[in-house]
Amino acid sequence: MTTIRLYNTRTRAKEDFAPINADNVRMYVCGPTVYDRAHLGNARPVVVFDTLFRLLQHVYGADHVTYARNFTDVDDKINATALQRQQAGAEGTLEELIHERTEETIGWYHADMDALGNLRPSHEPRATGYIAPMIAMIEALIAKGHAYAAEGHVLFRVRSYAEYGALSGRSVDDMIAGARVEVAPFKEDPMDFVLWKPSDVHSPGWESPWGRGRPGWHIECSAMSYELLGASFDIHGGGLDLQFPHHENEIAQSCCAHPGEGFAKVWMHNEMLLVEGKKMSKSLGNFFTVRELLEQGYPGEVIRFVMLSTHYRKPMDWTAEKAEVARKTLDDWMRWTWDYDPTPAENFIADPNLLDALGDDLNTHLALTYLRALKDQPQKLLDHARFLGFLSDEARSREIEYRKGIVSGTGTGPTSVLAFFGSNLDQLRQEAKLSKNFAKVDALKTALIAAGVEVRMSKEGVELVPGPGFDAAKLEGLE
Ligand SMILES: [Zn+2]
Repeated sequence: MTTIRLYNTRTRAKEDFAPINADNVRMYVCGPTVYDRAHLGNARPVVVFDTLFRLLQHVYGADHVTYARNFTDVDDKINATALQRQQAGAEGTLEELIHERTEETIGWYHADMDALGNLRPSHEPRATGYIAPMIAMIEALIAKGHAYAAEGHVLFRVRSYAEYGALSGRSVDDMIAGARVEVAPFKEDPMDFVLWKPSDVHSPGWESPWGRGRPGWHIECSAMSYELLGASFDIHGGGLDLQFPHHENEIAQSCCAHPGEGFAKVWMHNEMLLVEGKKMSKSLGNFFTVRELLEQGYPGEVIRFVMLSTHYRKPMDWTAEKAEVARKTLDDWMRWTWDYDPTPAENFIADPNLLDALGDDLNTHLALTYLRALKDQPQKLLDHARFLGFLSDEARSREIEYRKGIVSGTGTGPTSVLAFFGSNLDQLRQEAKLSKNFAKVDALKTALIAAGVEVRMSKEGVELVPGPGFDAAKLEGLE
């Protein structure tokens, strides 16, 4: 069996991965708060942990891996958006407007993450579906002396948990010094964090032993992972920005509610995302949602390729140049593998070299290098690319649509073999008009026609249409 080694944030070491139960390998990843479109940075953990999910499924069997990723659908930002809509005249109660907003956002999220080639997790729990387990966990924490109720709030008593801060390797006092902790008169200690808070009429709320209120953010992951994966499970993932306080708080809650169980064994954190070397921010004008990039003509697989070309523990710099390289590579792969049928996923056996690359703490950069070397083995390339979420059925059917349609030599839409040659032919023709030497144009045109391509040249540009006998293989080696 492939050895998987993963860097564990908790121990600060790369460790051999040994699941608690190889028949049910369990992974939890913190998901989005559903109030708006996912931005490019939100997509990184999804792509990273999707790749790990694929690896685990391949090594342990597709039915032996459980992957849970939550939707945070209780949040003040969601309430604020719903309230704004209501004030702008939208019909419905606040609860209905909140529901509408979260449903809409979850729909967007699915569409965007599917477009990037991510598999859906086994479970996608929503916080609002787990209020009772959260209340039960909070009650258990109060009963054990780890939490206290005060003025409609319930707070976690951070100093009651000696291990607090172990994940980030910092002491509570250091963390207080560096963090923006909310000081409130009802807190015993500024570090204590909210498990439950009261709701006014403008906020969604649930009845609880502490009055009508709603859960804090951290308790949701503790309660949902417990319900779906149990008191101890294998891997917990998320972005590096969640390490403190969110993950420290999850650990404190879960380990105090279920002492001796250990909660998550391996903690994995992906580094942040940059755009052209800078932190993505609205003020710098380099802030993109995934949808915006898709609409600008970057196929989802190009975004996925760029993300996987950098190791997950390094900052990932999104650049237009990298996207072009990715596009070119994926176009090549599509072209080289076009005449081959994918091996059904259940019959696919990954090459040990690729598994070794992925098994080495998800060395996706090396995995892509492995794929690049498969030019002369199209079947293998196709199957392995699909294993990593590329050349999907969706991408192939888009290519079919594209080949059926008219392909022009310019534009920013999806590119393909014909777009590539259309653009070349167009350029050669421009040059020939100046040099009055049409030899190159004629040579390429003849070669295209020989490959079954219908060549239409007009004042507007070049159009290449695949004819009935179109054979992409005949274009191999042409420039
Ligand atoms: Zn979480």
